[in-house]
Amino acid sequence: MPKIKAIIPLSNDALGGPFASADDDQFEILGRRDGVVLVEFIDLPSGVAWFDTFELMYCQEQHDAGTVKVIRKATEQERVLFRVPLWIQGEEVPECCGRPMFFVGQIDDDRICMEPPSGAKMWWHDKASFYVFTCAQCLESKAIGQQM
Ligand SMILES: [Zn+2]
Repeated sequence: MPKIKAIIPLSNDALGGPFASADDDQFEILGRRDGVVLVEFIDLPSGVAWFDTFELMYCQEQHDAGTVKVIRKATEQERVLFRVPLWIQGEEVPECCGRPMFFVGQIDDDRICMEPPSGAKMWWHDKASFYVFTCAQCLESKAIGQQM
């Protein structure tokens, strides 16, 4: 894959610059569609203080195709639209047919912990999220559950 660079305005009030720049080993692309790229930074260049690592950021592809520009924090609707899971614990993407499965969506629930079915041997004890995946080879579906 060609190298991608991110440019980050030093202030979110000054999208025209000045900018800091980051190499593609400092961020991860989690969604991409119609010129919009959602990324999370693993490591922020110095001088950038208006967001933090591992926040989902809304970026635009620049005319120079190898560059994306950070615009703002992504909204929760964008996270859903771009199908980016918000993990409670670590990332846990299941595999099927030898490949990572495709994330469909998640259910976040903070009440299920108070509703154990009668006879439950084990139950969720806290806010839980259930992540649904499907396989792009055989359509198998799978859910992963995590709790705080
Ligand atoms: Zn499969």
